[in-house]
Amino acid sequence: MEFAPKWIAWEITRRCNLKCVHCRSSSEMEVKGHPDFSTEEAFRILDDISSYAKPVIVLSGGEPLMRKDVFDIARYGTEKGLRMCLATNGTLVTDEICQNIKASGIRIVSLSLDGSTKEVHDDFRNENGAFDGTVNAARLFKKHDIEFIINSSFTKRNQEEIPKVYKLAKELGATAWYMFMIVPTGRGEDIMNELISKEDYEKILEWHYHMEKDERDMLVRPTCAPHYYRIVLQKSKEEGARFERRTLKFSTGGSKGCIAGQLICLINVDGDVLPCSYFPMSAGNIKKQTFKDIWENSELFKDLRNFKKYKGRCGSCEFVNVCGGCRARAYSVYGDYLAEEPFCGYVPLKFKEIGVPGKS
Ligand code: SF4
Ligand code: SF4
Repeated sequence: MEFAPKWIAWEITRRCNLKCVHCRSSSEMEVKGHPDFSTEEAFRILDDISSYAKPVIVLSGGEPLMRKDVFDIARYGTEKGLRMCLATNGTLVTDEICQNIKASGIRIVSLSLDGSTKEVHDDFRNENGAFDGTVNAARLFKKHDIEFIINSSFTKRNQEEIPKVYKLAKELGATAWYMFMIVPTGRGEDIMNELISKEDYEKILEWHYHMEKDERDMLVRPTCAPHYYRIVLQKSKEEGARFERRTLKFSTGGSKGCIAGQLICLINVDGDVLPCSYFPMSAGNIKKQTFKDIWENSELFKDLRNFKKYKGRCGSCEFVNVCGGCRARAYSVYGDYLAEEPFCGYVPLKFKEIGVPGKS
């Protein structure tokens, strides 16, 4: 596996107009100590990254549309040969915003939808009107011929909604639907006991496998469910079926389950480079180092790329190269990012052979 940066989420502001229960950045309208950086600094960062690689850059937040210069940043990135994308909660999208999205060269937009009804979504997003905002944004994107992905986050609170949200994403005409079981960080720590159980997680991923096999129109994938890669291999072997997974042209190619610090990273509003959006450890800061230096020399990134260092069941697992377990979940549950994935129930063959039961 070649460890090149393919996809970078970039938190261009921490400000947000919503206060979602699971939000990793604990966004509020004003975030003390985490101010937005200047437009010039944004251009400098894009110069730095594009001189080294040409990844997909997802302008994210907070809510990126809170920044007045969001389209200047997008346009600058496009001119530098970067594939610019936008992740929004949808509530601020208008006809004018859609025109700006197109004019600035943004390739695809992602929206959040966590329930099939106002009640569920607005409860999850902590904001009346959030559901209408997302649905309205999807309609506007359709009208303006802008491709969009729907990202859906699930906990025990809304897990029954999964098939319904999938159906709604399809009805809204999304190019892709990505299902995500939340990783507890930031404000999400408060809802640790709301996380979907390991057993249900496995059942949901099996449901996804069957759904994905039959889905022809929309691209689907569970985000950050690395053990889905194991389930796909196990199930297709059981069924004697060849299963060609389709991926979005802006994706990382679907080469492995967890790709934190391997193909992807997050740059937060303070300039810290993190392995992914849910991993609260910094590999370096782009105000002090070049992106190239951080990407190539960070000890944290080197650890994540060295699967031999992984511990517990992941360390002994025959699927480690295709899955790898969620390093952020290992960190949040065990305080060790190299520990085994706490939400996978698989017992590796090596453990079975020597009669060591899998820990739970
Ligand atoms: S550590 Fe890996 S699987 Fe977990 S949230 Fe980050 S990218 Fe996703
Ligand atoms: S034990 Fe770890 S590497 Fe193996 S399938 Fe589970 S999460 Fe993946």
